[in-house]
Amino acid sequence: MSDLTDLTQGDLFAPPDPIITCRTLDELHGLIRDCTKCEELAECRTQAVPGVGPADASVVFIGEAPGRWEDQKGEPFVGEAGAYLTELLEKIGLDRSRVFITNIVKCRPPDNRNPKTPEMENCSPYLERQLALIKPDLVVLLGRVALERFFPKEKITEAAAKPRRKWVGEREITFLPMLHPAFGIRRQDLKPEIEQQFWKIREVLDEL
Ligand code: URA
Repeated sequence: MSDLTDLTQGDLFAPPDPIITCRTLDELHGLIRDCTKCEELAECRTQAVPGVGPADASVVFIGEAPGRWEDQKGEPFVGEAGAYLTELLEKIGLDRSRVFITNIVKCRPPDNRNPKTPEMENCSPYLERQLALIKPDLVVLLGRVALERFFPKEKITEAAAKPRRKWVGEREITFLPMLHPAFGIRRQDLKPEIEQQFWKIREVLDEL
C-alpha cells in the first residue's frame, strides 16, 4: 500500500491531488461517490458506499467491499453480516453509531466476487485519507481481504485478535485483525470463537 507521505511529496508543479487536499470527510465522500476509476465497478454499482460514522471516531472497522444490500442502501454492513456485526458490538458494549465503518473497496464487485488488486489500489488513497482525517486510536480489520491489504504476509486465522502497530502516512496506528462476521453466518459453529475474539477489541481499547 502506498503511504500518505509518498502521495504528498509530488511534483511541485503538478495540480494538487484532490484526495489529499480534502479537509473534511464529507468532501472526501463526495469524491468517492463520483469516482469512476474502476470502470466495471462504476458501471455495475447502484452507488458507491464511502462509509458511515462520526468524523472523530476512535475506532474504525474496515471490511472487504459492499454487498447487495450495502450497494442499495449506500451504507456498509447493513445486510446479514452487518446485523451480526451490530450484535457483536453490542455484546462488548460498543455503540455502532459511535464507530466508523468502511470497506477496502467502496463499490460492490459484481456478483460479490473478490475485489481485484487494481480495484483495491484505486481505492487505497480514499481509505488512507479517511484514516488521516478520522485519526482513530484503533483500526479493526474484518477478514482476510482487509488484513492482507495492510499486512500482506499474514493469515487471518493466525493473526485474528492479535494487535499490532503500523505507520500509515504520518500516524502510527494500532490494528486488530478479526475473523469476518460473515464467517459466523456461514459457519454457525464458529460464532463462539468470533465472539470471544471480539472481546479483544474491548481489552485493547481499555489499554489505549
Ligand atoms: N458488508 C460490507 O459492507 N462489507 C463486507 O465486507 C461485508 C458485508
